[in-house]
Amino acid sequence: MANSMSKLVIAIDGPVGSGKSTVARRVARLLDYLYVDTGAMYRAVALKAQRQGIALDSNDEMTGLAAGAKIGVRLRGSRNGRGQSILLDGEDVSAAIRVVEVAEAASKIAVLPGVREVLVSVQRQAGAEGGVVMEGRDIGSVVFPGANLKIFLTAPVEVRARRRWKEYLRAGKTISFEEMINVVQERDRRDSERETSPLIRAADGVFIDSSAMESEEVARTIAMLARTKGGDPAPLG
Ligand code: C5P
Repeated sequence: MANSMSKLVIAIDGPVGSGKSTVARRVARLLDYLYVDTGAMYRAVALKAQRQGIALDSNDEMTGLAAGAKIGVRLRGSRNGRGQSILLDGEDVSAAIRVVEVAEAASKIAVLPGVREVLVSVQRQAGAEGGVVMEGRDIGSVVFPGANLKIFLTAPVEVRARRRWKEYLRAGKTISFEEMINVVQERDRRDSERETSPLIRAADGVFIDSSAMESEEVARTIAMLARTKGGDPAPLG
């Protein structure tokens, strides 16, 4: 019975600090689906640009760099996101992309249409067979407009800034909460106002405020929605 159900494409979009990554990873685990973090791809390209000293606002140069970059995901152990490494030209850059400077740079190069085109094509390949939970900003609107289930996950800016702030403090970075709110608002602005693939809620996206529930509860809700679409092969035990 289990495998007679279809392998869905689940798109989870939302702004910085909305809890997308935690939730998407959990949903993938609940459904035994593949988890794809598209932000990591933008970060990997940004890291490469930084290392090569390429101007982050040059569409042509950046597009060439993105097209020439080999971005891959290596699964450690099981298929469903328990351990995942992001590879850039064969090098494991999972830790290197998780720094503030790379996040900032990623948000800058993400406005470039050429870079997006390259990465969207990588993302479509990654999800082509279904059975995937993909998170980002434009998954339900651009990458997989035909996704079986689209979630728009968000939370009030103060809540999202507080989450990011705690991450920063844990990483030993000193920044005030007020500054963090500014950083988050600036990222929101860049993501929502860019011309190519801005962050928007797809018309058929399900809106979830992650400040109202624990991430496990949000994940279970999404998995349940997936079930109603006939796409959950695994019991929600
Ligand atoms: O989600 P994360 O913070 O890792 O993403 C890094 C940056 O990449 C974001 O600030 C956003 O500007 C960009 N991004 C995007 N489209 C996606 C995923 C990420 O523009 N699908």
